[in-house]
Amino acid sequence: MSEVKVPQNFIKTIIEEDLESGKHDEIITRFPPEPNGYLHIGHAKSIVLNFDLGDEFKGITNMRFDDTNPCKEEIEYVKSIKEDVNWLGYEWDNLFFASDYFQEMYERAIVLIKKGKAFVCELTADEIREYRGTLTEAGKESPYRNRSIEENLDLFERMKNGEFEDGSKVLRAKIDMASSNINMRDPVIYRILHESHHNTGDEWCIYPMYDYAHPLEDAIEGITHSLCTLEFEDHRPLYNWFVEECEMENIPRQIEFARLNLTNTVMSKRKLKQLVDNNIVDGWDDPRLPTISGLRRRGYTPESIRNFCREIGVAKNNSLVDSQMLEYFIREDLKNKAPRMMAVIDPIKLVITNYPEGESELLDANNNDDNEELGSRKISFSRELYIEREDFMEEPLPKYHRLYPGNEVRLKNAYFVKCNDFVKDDNGNIVEIHCTYDIETKSGTGFKGRKVKSTIHWVDAKTAIPAEFRLYDNLIEDEDVSDDFLENINKDSLVIKNGFMEEGMKSLKIQDKVQLFRHGYFNVDPKFTTEDKLVFNRIVSLKSRFRLKK
Ligand code: ATP
Ligand code: MG
Repeated sequence: MSEVKVPQNFIKTIIEEDLESGKHDEIITRFPPEPNGYLHIGHAKSIVLNFDLGDEFKGITNMRFDDTNPCKEEIEYVKSIKEDVNWLGYEWDNLFFASDYFQEMYERAIVLIKKGKAFVCELTADEIREYRGTLTEAGKESPYRNRSIEENLDLFERMKNGEFEDGSKVLRAKIDMASSNINMRDPVIYRILHESHHNTGDEWCIYPMYDYAHPLEDAIEGITHSLCTLEFEDHRPLYNWFVEECEMENIPRQIEFARLNLTNTVMSKRKLKQLVDNNIVDGWDDPRLPTISGLRRRGYTPESIRNFCREIGVAKNNSLVDSQMLEYFIREDLKNKAPRMMAVIDPIKLVITNYPEGESELLDANNNDDNEELGSRKISFSRELYIEREDFMEEPLPKYHRLYPGNEVRLKNAYFVKCNDFVKDDNGNIVEIHCTYDIETKSGTGFKGRKVKSTIHWVDAKTAIPAEFRLYDNLIEDEDVSDDFLENINKDSLVIKNGFMEEGMKSLKIQDKVQLFRHGYFNVDPKFTTEDKLVFNRIVSLKSRFRLKK
């Protein structure tokens, strides 16, 4: 990406110092997702940070799939992750899979064993947990801890050769069961798992644990600055221990930063997967989800997401970011880019009784009043229109300035109309509003004779085209989401409306974005739109209480 300037943050400062001091000539960063789900906006924070730093300092940024756990990982996820990173606007310098390093990781484990720094343990998972101790109590050493190097080498090789059952043995680092840092209490580094891997098939039946694999992956690739989220801070001593004891040539530096959390949504892949698997949402790309694919389908642009990630910045303490801040950035991005058109989401018919029957005319309308470059269009107008049901009241409330018997409003891009009458059906529902229009008040003619307090939108009933509008609200009712989020789902997070759009909108294509007058920004949905009917996702409404702090 050209001309990236990363806002100053403590990680950027470290990099500047490392380049200045000559510690590194070139930086190498990486984005290391586990392919066990779709990416979310939290990942975007990490992607933007790693790739922007790589770009600004003319370094290298790798894409690396951390695929060391064959139980949860799938090719579908690998594919979607690549797509999402590219869509966000980034190109990796190298594409790597942690599973490509399984042989080297295995050999480095043998280095540990030979140095007396790793042993094969036969405690069960429960026993290991029991022996580990607590924050206030030291752990207990495993009875298998003092096996001879020869025995460990032999057992580890046989683990690899598939001689033992899942869970019967593990390889553990031999560090310090009394360490105040529980991560250092002889952590497991390999487990037996007779499970097919999406990349290596059945070649391996032992798999490395994250804490062991990750530092080695970084070191193998020569990563200079390994950026991860805060919960790994306590793992850093172990990270450094593996790099050193495995005698890695390159020494990466792990630096932790705060995770992104957003209000009224869930962020972890585990929780997102629950929503998908329980059919609470319509797949990983449901427009209500904070997944990259969901945001894309909702209508967010890569620019808006990148700008949001840059604005929230990078800090050392976790915090909850207001979802409205993300909405702010898509409004900013689309404000001058998206054409502004008219659609009626909840229609009621309006008849202009003094407009000649059978006739119609074409009116001029700007495509975006704030951006002349988007040009103008003609919209048809005739005796029968649709307006929003809520733009008429039989008995107006105080301060209601839209249509009611005796009141006059402006029809956007057209004329003033005055309500004279309305028609009810047998059930008492209003089905038609009768108005007269004043030909002198045509938009664009500079009419100054009198004023009206309200401008409403409309579509010409003769040419309007039916369309579906999907209106979204927060998926989760609580701002700050806890583990019982499934009990906290907002049942009204999706409302589907069938209305009409102005004729010109029929040329819109999937993923095209428009501002619909008074309703907000909309995206043409790629999943439900058909040849016959456009389906629109509302990205955001027009107004917000949110203000960016300067
Ligand atoms: P999840 O809990 O959602 O599965 P994860 O951290 O396990 O997240 P990974 O696939 O391991 O997901 O993450 C890839 C990278 O993205 C890591 O470097 C991780 O630190 C970063 N990352 C994940 N979630 C966030 C977040 N909410 N904010 C910032 N960075 C994140
Ligand atoms: Mg994970």
